Amino acid sequence: MKGLCILGATGSIGVSTLDVISRHPDKYKVVALTANTNIEALYQQCLVYLPRYAVVVDKEKAVILAQKLANTAIQVLSGTAALEKVASLDEVDSVMAAIVGAAGLLPSLAAANTGKTILLANKEALVMSGDIFMQAVTDSGATLLPIDSEHNAIFQCMPSAYKTGEPSKQVRRILLTASGGPFRETPVEELENVTPEQAIAHPKWNMGRKISVDSATMMNKGLELIEACLLFNMPSDSIQVVIHKQSIIHSMVDYLDGSVLAQMGNPDMRTPIAHAMAYPERFDSGVTPLDIFEVAQMDFEKPNLQRFPCLRLAIEAVNIGGIMPTVLNAANEIAVDYFLNEKIKFTEIAIIIEQTMAKFSAGNADSLETILATDKQARTVAIKIINGLGR
Ligand code: NAD
Ligand code: MG
Repeated sequence: MKGLCILGATGSIGVSTLDVISRHPDKYKVVALTANTNIEALYQQCLVYLPRYAVVVDKEKAVILAQKLANTAIQVLSGTAALEKVASLDEVDSVMAAIVGAAGLLPSLAAANTGKTILLANKEALVMSGDIFMQAVTDSGATLLPIDSEHNAIFQCMPSAYKTGEPSKQVRRILLTASGGPFRETPVEELENVTPEQAIAHPKWNMGRKISVDSATMMNKGLELIEACLLFNMPSDSIQVVIHKQSIIHSMVDYLDGSVLAQMGNPDMRTPIAHAMAYPERFDSGVTPLDIFEVAQMDFEKPNLQRFPCLRLAIEAVNIGGIMPTVLNAANEIAVDYFLNEKIKFTEIAIIIEQTMAKFSAGNADSLETILATDKQARTVAIKIINGLGR
């Protein structure tokens, strides 16, 4: 039995993770579940999975949850430090990092520093901290398994040699697939007026609000390109983004001998979650088996960087390197939040990120302190730029 901590248990990935472990109660014991504010969902999960700890970041909500769980053995903790505490407990073997955004960095890093098996969904944590995160994993002997469906697919297709830290000499390039989101074919001039509801209505995946907007701008693919460079030690020009609207191939690895390995499956996050949880074995995920006759056809096209400027900005950020991916991520989090709150237009997301990046030069991202300070500064700059728009 392995002990599991789920950071972000009440979100889309957290709920899918609990669905997978319900099928394997002999393999995993839930030690800790965490949520930001949603105590109703966390309460129901606590009654079913009986974790030792339940963490609610919001202190007042934590008090309410503690009252509701008073006649159980579950300890309710609150605050951000509690997230780090539960991610590094001795009885925890694996940590599902499924908090959205930079808020997940410190708890994910705590798991990395304590040598856990990290099931990484929280791409923003890796993108913003880059080599610092990867170094923490190496130094502690932690195991990092990607949950993002594309990276999980690449992991399954990659030669095991990439784990040595050397870029693989056998691989020509990675083909990183993207659905293209809800606005793949929307006339560019109409993008200005799309609403948050339209942006979060993803054609293939049912996900949290922030990543759904990122998919609509294709910043999600930009963050994933940076994530792939870090996880697989590949230069950005060896990663080709491919729009594949059916979302059946989840990414491919193109080898020197002409072999292209692809991982396929129905678009359901329980597949990568179950892969990483059973690794190196396999177990059932509850996902409907793929019917290739029903798929019948698969299309591939190059992304249009004019339509998707956020993808261009992410490529620029990774090529500049240093703190620029941290700046990109922070500005994007602010811009998406303002868009979801109907304070800026969809097309202004990219403008705000580009203008924020222009205010920073490529400094070294050589310490956690630098990363946290840059993240904070970039948020302040992005908000200033938004305020300058006069809304
Ligand atoms: P979500 O919005 O559905 O859930 C987010 C979770 O994080 C919730 O449990 C919430 O309580 C918690 N949370 C939010 N803000 C927090 C804060 N400030 N402090 C602590 N906890 C906080 O998001 P999601 O779709 O499950 O995505 C989670 C992560 O996984 C994201 O980084 C996303 O990019 C990544 N991811 C998601 C999918 C997907 O299919 N949903 C696929 C690939 C990668
Ligand atoms: Mg993905």
